[in-house]
Amino acid sequence: MRALILSDLHANWYALEAVLKDAGSGFDQIICCGDIVGYNPHPVQVLDWVRTNCKTVIRGNHDKLVAGLADPEWFNEIALAAAVWTRQRLDASQLAYLSALPQGPLVLEHFVIWHGSPLDEDEYVTAVSEARPCFQHFDMALAFFGHTHLQGGFFSRYGRIGVLDPVPTSEKETVIELQPDSLYMVNPGSIGQPRDDDPRAAYAIFDSEQKTVTLRRVAYPVQQTAEDIRRAGLPSMLAQRLFYGA
Ligand code: ZN
Repeated sequence: MRALILSDLHANWYALEAVLKDAGSGFDQIICCGDIVGYNPHPVQVLDWVRTNCKTVIRGNHDKLVAGLADPEWFNEIALAAAVWTRQRLDASQLAYLSALPQGPLVLEHFVIWHGSPLDEDEYVTAVSEARPCFQHFDMALAFFGHTHLQGGFFSRYGRIGVLDPVPTSEKETVIELQPDSLYMVNPGSIGQPRDDDPRAAYAIFDSEQKTVTLRRVAYPVQQTAEDIRRAGLPSMLAQRLFYGA
């Protein structure tokens, strides 16, 4: 079974388009770990694509915010402005879709998915100390999560928790060979707003026969998304950060 794992798309259509072209076809399923909308200017295209093509989708904090299900107090001014702008562009059926998205963790056949952590969908898991309690809250060997916009993740082997640090196989690709004695939490990274100092869109491919997770990066026309952000009247900082992956 091959699954395409997407997260934090954040309404960036040009980034999603580049990912889909790069990934090619032949996937048994497409999974989304949340944050379809927010920040960027293409919520309608990205949401409609996810709704049509992703077999399993869980909600992210920005999906909740746009759907009116999150406390705005938890968001900064720029995220709130983008959410208000986004809400005005979605029709009733698109908003209903966002409102009905399930909350993680969601257990699937080969892995479990959640947005932030299995304990709290809005928590950022960026360090070993934050990953440690997560490993006690899922029963499968592999989990995919999002929210931090950082591609990578953590492993647990005989109780030792560490940061995944596989050697890249090329400039675009890093393959994690899943070991039978280990548990994994993998973040595919963000498509629409990477924050790991690499502006290229990030995603992952899971292969159950090869027992691998492949992390990939793909360049996309950042300038085009930035222009659409400015044209839409969204905060210009949202355009600037895309050039740096920050
Ligand atoms: Zn996000």
